[in-house]
Amino acid sequence: MPLLSKEEKRNSIALPKINQIDSVTQRYGETAIIRGKGRSISGACLKCKNPRCMRFPEAYISCPEFEDFSYERNNNVCPVDAISWDYSKDIPRIDHEKCINCGICALMCPIGAIYSDGNKVYVSEPRNDYSILPVTASNIRLQEELFTRLMTLNWQHRFLHESQSIMSNIYKKVSKFDGRSMSANLLIRNLMIAVGHHCSISRTGDVYTRIDAVYSDGDIYDACYGAMEIEFGRDTLDASRGILDDIAVLHSRNGIDKEKNTALVACLSFPNKRQGYFQVIKDVNKVLNLKIQTVSLGALLILAWNGIEVDFSQKDFYADFDNLSIRSALNNNIKRRVELPEGFLGILEPEK
Ligand code: SF4
Ligand code: SF4
Repeated sequence: MPLLSKEEKRNSIALPKINQIDSVTQRYGETAIIRGKGRSISGACLKCKNPRCMRFPEAYISCPEFEDFSYERNNNVCPVDAISWDYSKDIPRIDHEKCINCGICALMCPIGAIYSDGNKVYVSEPRNDYSILPVTASNIRLQEELFTRLMTLNWQHRFLHESQSIMSNIYKKVSKFDGRSMSANLLIRNLMIAVGHHCSISRTGDVYTRIDAVYSDGDIYDACYGAMEIEFGRDTLDASRGILDDIAVLHSRNGIDKEKNTALVACLSFPNKRQGYFQVIKDVNKVLNLKIQTVSLGALLILAWNGIEVDFSQKDFYADFDNLSIRSALNNNIKRRVELPEGFLGILEPEK
């Protein structure tokens, strides 16, 4: 029995042989271009059986180093429930009212079929030349083969180029998050995954877990991992104290060595100097020799949009009372200057 039906053969004809695909690039505002043997195709939805743009595999939302951490099992890629399956077209549909343009779904799509024009995010519909792949046993196999190949390649991934208007729109939407919902924590967790980590957030309604989240880069020989505090409000001083609490609890009760705990505070905007946050961070470094790093939502978005796998073990994102900026860490990671003015929305340094 042939592996592919005639229709399937016809529809997969424009693909170079899977093992001949040698590069994938995605430019800002476009779907990916997949190249091999002098041919190229642009990313369009393959109607996945298990859409990676919608659900994370369990391994991404759990951290092996923190096996006692009671984590949230919601594995939605979209932190605001804006992506769902459109059964009429048999591809994902994006609710533009809910979507905040974070791009996480796009980064998870193995074929780069999701893109943004700066305002709205779209799923590129299947094209006649290659991607009408009805879900049959043979096509699932083909899809998996293709995705495995695509994921082993060095992607050049560009989702959005940061600008003041794009960032302002996102921050406006995020500032409307209901403080009791999980959206802020899910957004940070999912962005941490998008920049190459496993990340778990504490379970909804779990009043016993003080720690907001934990992350790990998953390196089997020398993993970089740590506790996280997530603070989208104005209570950043509490975040600096909370992270100390997390480090102490994990050290004394769970055997997570405080020296190995590469702790992070994720905030919406950098607190200003007067709020005391950066003074506490400096004190902790001086007295305990612990460099607690700070990342903002905007910084994580820029890193994710540029397809960067961030290495927090270098402590590049350490900012304190004497150096209030993570701008050079961002510039070094994305290998160009971030195009946001100083203090803009408190993304890279406190607002002026
Ligand atoms: S958008 Fe991408 S991940 Fe989602 S169903 Fe289509 S091909 Fe699969
Ligand atoms: S861009 Fe972000 S908010 Fe919009 S659908 Fe994708 S994951 Fe959801």
